[in-house]
Amino acid sequence: MRDFKNIKRIVIKVGSSSLVKKDLSINIKMLNSIMSGFSKLKDLGIDSCLVTSGAIAVGMHELGLTKKPTNMALKQACAAVGQAKLMESYNSVANLYELKLGQILVNHDDFQVRKRMVLLSDTLDSMFKNNIIPVINENDALAVDEIKVGDNDTLASLISPMVSADLLILFSDINGLYDKNPKLYDDAKMISDVKHIDESIISMATGATSKVGTGGMETKIKAALISNMSGLDMIICNSNKIDELVNIVKGEEIGTLFNKYEKCISSRDDWMIFKTNSCGQIILDKNFKNDLNVKKVSILPTGITDCKGEFLKGSIIDIKNSDGVIIAKGISNYSSNEINLIKGHKSSEFTDILGYKGKSEVIHADNLVVIKEEFYGFFIK
Ligand code: GLU
Repeated sequence: MRDFKNIKRIVIKVGSSSLVKKDLSINIKMLNSIMSGFSKLKDLGIDSCLVTSGAIAVGMHELGLTKKPTNMALKQACAAVGQAKLMESYNSVANLYELKLGQILVNHDDFQVRKRMVLLSDTLDSMFKNNIIPVINENDALAVDEIKVGDNDTLASLISPMVSADLLILFSDINGLYDKNPKLYDDAKMISDVKHIDESIISMATGATSKVGTGGMETKIKAALISNMSGLDMIICNSNKIDELVNIVKGEEIGTLFNKYEKCISSRDDWMIFKTNSCGQIILDKNFKNDLNVKKVSILPTGITDCKGEFLKGSIIDIKNSDGVIIAKGISNYSSNEINLIKGHKSSEFTDILGYKGKSEVIHADNLVVIKEEFYGFFIK
């Protein structure tokens, strides 16, 4: 048995391939199993929150489409139709268990803009207080590249710390994490327990995707990393085990468990790394001594060789080393135009260049979040 004590709130994410049948019609049996599990958890005093996929797939079925549209507007129309249909079905099943549901549709902006994140968090809080189970999906009908989260594994990992969940379970068509791709190797073994996500774990994620969902193993490992760093456990599990939900929450060893880190990151660092999209980037000189993983230092203009993107002072930007790898994110004291003027210069020259004497550092050490070397290139690209 896994050592799960004091679980008070869980988030489960169910993938599209588990929510629809082969013909893309809604898998009512699955919806029934989810609600039945939630009802049993409620009796045990455990709150549930659902992150649901399936909107686009269900919409395709409603519109008689067999292939995922490549046309963005049509995909969005599918999501609009499918989300409504999906919610109608969830509600009719939830009624049988006397459960109350509330729908929340979000995009990346709702996390990135702090004010909206606080409002979202307050709404969710109030739903739990009023015994309403949040049913969350990306607002796919309005999602475009600039504002979308992109996959529901990541979305679930962004939501989970916000609702102070103790456990996130990703239900999909994958049993768990294997040491090799089980579709290619007969001797692939499933790992039941991951203590610490490192390069070897990341390399096991092949990025294979299922036919209808957008997630794969890579997005699941990324979700595990976000969850574990934010202080909660995460399980990857096959949705054919959904009837075991209560047993999983009680600690039965089903699927792969990714254990929370003992020392989790601060909510500010969590926000800056995972919940914001950078507005631009600065590239550091090859002589920049990268010991950021040991000690945070401020980024001075003398060490900057290039600045990309257009952004204002106060924006969050990526800091890349000379190989083009993002090694940190930070809040810039200068706009992109100003950085382009002062890069390579000493602060004593600022007055001549800018017409005023600004701060000597482009990014102060206090406004910098360092990406651990073992994760370079993994969750921020
Ligand atoms: N939000 C998408 C949908 O409801 C699914 C995204 C995913 O598969 O991760 O269709």
